[in-house]
Amino acid sequence: MKAAIQPAGLTRLCVHTVTTKPWGVEEAAGRYAAAGVKGITVWRQALDGRDAGAVGGMLRAHGLEVVSLCRGGFFAAPDEAGRQRAIDDNLAAIGEAEALGAPLLVLVCGAVPGLPLEEARGQIRGGIEAVLPAAVEAGVRLAIEPLHPMYADDRSAINTLAQANEVAEAIGSEFVGVAVDVYHLWWDPDLEREIQRCARSGSLLAFHVCDWKTPTVDLLNDRGLMGEGCIPLRQIRSWVEAAGFRGFNEVEIFSERYWAQDQQEFLERIVEAYQKYV
Ligand code: ZN
Repeated sequence: MKAAIQPAGLTRLCVHTVTTKPWGVEEAAGRYAAAGVKGITVWRQALDGRDAGAVGGMLRAHGLEVVSLCRGGFFAAPDEAGRQRAIDDNLAAIGEAEALGAPLLVLVCGAVPGLPLEEARGQIRGGIEAVLPAAVEAGVRLAIEPLHPMYADDRSAINTLAQANEVAEAIGSEFVGVAVDVYHLWWDPDLEREIQRCARSGSLLAFHVCDWKTPTVDLLNDRGLMGEGCIPLRQIRSWVEAAGFRGFNEVEIFSERYWAQDQQEFLERIVEAYQKYV
């Protein structure tokens, strides 16, 4: 008989600052730590008007591990000037990650309506290669996060883990890997195989969780809390762990519905749902 998959345990729980967007990063840090959260992924907006180094120190003083900085990317653009702006912005993000003490920058790679997806993927690879020396110098790894195909028009031309693996393998640096977000990838019949594929090269760098609601009423900001939808969370976590991943399970929920609620109550529900479903 196959053994049941055990709950993940709080020691590997990370929350993204955007999940509790109404809180500033200082308030989030104090409340996450008090709730038993061990890791934090910082969204760049949370650094607005702040010194990234000071924020990193503040987070570590709360006992939180800085898991990653979200997000860089958006490399595809209609013209050369746009692609250069993207490269400059990613160089800035790498600098912020280094100052913050985040070992990883997550990339939402970009797409432009009307630009053929193949071309966009070529631009994405070119953009990553352009910033790679700076990432190596800073000691910051880059994670390509495939996005659900519903975002293929304007957010990412990389829509499956296979495509992300192809780009990462083509670049061939230990500083470039992939992020698996269940919201984007849960439907993919090749998911288990592609998780094993990236694990062989040690390029599985991050694991994001939430849930897929039926119906989803907003393509961007209606993600579900774990257990509210149809994603086989524990099964996907077991694939990721079978592939050797030992990093944090990161709760990343964009939800107008939850942002409008009491954030402390929401955080308590996150911790509960994490223990029950992840
Ligand atoms: Zn994600």
